[in-house]
Amino acid sequence: MIVVMKLSANQDHINAVARRVEELGLKSHVIVGTERTVVAAIGEKRNGERETLESMASVDKVVPILAPYKVASVETKPEPTTVEIGSLKVGNGNVGVIAGPCSVESEEQILETARFVKVSGANGLRGGAFKPRTSPYSFQGMKEEGLKLLAAAREETGLSVVTEVMTPQHVELVGRYADVLQIGARNMQNYHLLQAVGEQPKPVLLKRGPSASIDEFLLAAEYILDQGNTQVMLCERGVRTFETHTRFTLPLATVPYLQERTHLPVVIDPSHGTGITSLVPSMCRAAIAAGCDGLIIEVHPNPSKAMSDGAQSLPPDLFASTMQECKKVADALGYHLADAS
Ligand code: PEP
Ligand code: MN
Repeated sequence: MIVVMKLSANQDHINAVARRVEELGLKSHVIVGTERTVVAAIGEKRNGERETLESMASVDKVVPILAPYKVASVETKPEPTTVEIGSLKVGNGNVGVIAGPCSVESEEQILETARFVKVSGANGLRGGAFKPRTSPYSFQGMKEEGLKLLAAAREETGLSVVTEVMTPQHVELVGRYADVLQIGARNMQNYHLLQAVGEQPKPVLLKRGPSASIDEFLLAAEYILDQGNTQVMLCERGVRTFETHTRFTLPLATVPYLQERTHLPVVIDPSHGTGITSLVPSMCRAAIAAGCDGLIIEVHPNPSKAMSDGAQSLPPDLFASTMQECKKVADALGYHLADAS
């Protein structure tokens, strides 16, 4: 249920409603909108709660939330959520661009990449330090050493760092170095991990599992929101279909579809979504045209030498020209994308 407060409600009224919600055995989430404050009451419905809450001071009305994902739903919060950390701003007209290698490989590689993605207009730096690889014999990432290199790249360039965390035991460690914690596609339904990143304060980039439905995706986001972390970005990175020409199939209709159902920003990953370097620039442009709130793009100084995902990584010159094209699309549609410097 959503308890919609009157415009005249003060903080004491809001606190009293939140307290009552908890006394009724439900979880309360206070959501302060630009116009009104609502208190979402989440949990198993019994009898009489609605009437009890409706009779409280400064309560306008109590309405049911129909979607299974309660806090993520636009029913609970019609205004779009913006995720902002350091140089990175995602949502509400700002297209945030997170770029960098699939994996952090060396100091030289990550610093060089950070420098050129920044001058091309990126706002965030990606790079995996803990890598989920299909084969246990593939490169597994530089781990804490990689996190330190990412932090050094942020120090030099000012770019916010986005990196994956694979297990609840590493949330504290990764959170010490990163600005945004990425939950990889393979972990979208790792509920303990979702809860662990929900309990800490850094924003989360949640990737869609390659065989997850949109409802499953949104319910995964709900696990994070339910722990109190409101800074969640949803990332479409392609789903598995019968098609084998591309690594995954990238459904860009996910962007407007999600935006009709959730206030959370939607980021597109055209690198994993296609698996092929030459297809990435067009999908970046198309994602912006579709209204995405951000892009996450794999970029490598020398893709043929990359230790992971070289076949889908953009070399520096192609990243720079892609950003210029994206800027034209964003300008034409009235979205904000940073300029190259
Ligand atoms: C990645 O971002 O490098 C990655 C492993 O992505 P995904 O979880 O979408 O496969
Ligand atoms: Mn990758």
